[in-house]
Amino acid sequence: MLNELCPLCVSEVETVNHLLFSCRNSWALWMKFVSFWNLSLVLHDNPTAVIIAWHEVSFSFPVNSIWHLIPAAILWSIWLYRNELVFQNKRMDLPQLFFVARFHLASWFKAKNQEIAISLEDIVLSPPVVDKYSNNKLRSPLVVWKAPPVGYIKINVDGAMPVSGLRGGIGGLRRNDRGVCLGTFSKSIGFGTPVLAELLAIKVGLEAFLQAGNNSPLRVIMESDCKVAVEWVLNQGSCPACFSELVKSIDTVLSCFCVTIRHIPRECNREADALEKKG
Ligand SMILES: [Zn+2]
Repeated sequence: MLNELCPLCVSEVETVNHLLFSCRNSWALWMKFVSFWNLSLVLHDNPTAVIIAWHEVSFSFPVNSIWHLIPAAILWSIWLYRNELVFQNKRMDLPQLFFVARFHLASWFKAKNQEIAISLEDIVLSPPVVDKYSNNKLRSPLVVWKAPPVGYIKINVDGAMPVSGLRGGIGGLRRNDRGVCLGTFSKSIGFGTPVLAELLAIKVGLEAFLQAGNNSPLRVIMESDCKVAVEWVLNQGSCPACFSELVKSIDTVLSCFCVTIRHIPRECNREADALEKKG
């Protein structure tokens, strides 16, 4: 039987150990997580030894540290990503794999610690952030949506994707300075990542605004509770190649109109969140 090449590096034979640990891309992924904690770690390419060593270094971490969830998040993400490369004929993109792994990690941590006030996006951006807070800092502050200034329209959008990556939804609404709703949208989208759903929500929210024939010189504020998506739109250099076309098309619309885009906490985005769930 012919030995298949590892789909991540396409240069060595695919074995379980190679795929999950010693492949240069998998190894880079492990090391990226380690570097979040400024640790230098010597890991073996033996799966059991890696898992034991991983938990041994955490003696100074909080009991419920997110660190303990990392091996499962990495292994699960590599496996899903490997299947995507094989069955959907995609190309290896390490930043994307790193993002997917951080998303799984953050989702699992949030599911286990529902009282935590740190947003999913903040944990995705920097997983150690949850270890830096003591328990009394984890409660949600009281935050509410605010109407835009006079003469402005505010668009709130939201996009979501279940962890399966299938059947996501997007939604949003436009309101004026008195908080009156001027229009809504909600629709289902196919498969993808959560940040893709949020970018699509931003794009469709802008298109819905344009289609409504708003030609008057209104100023627009667009709000999303996805920090990553907003950062990519504001700083295209930080956006992975696979999303750059979409981000560029959003930027083109933003720059034609006077649109300010910004990140807000999820608590301020409840209506858009409800519409996204409808989608
Ligand atoms: Zn490989």
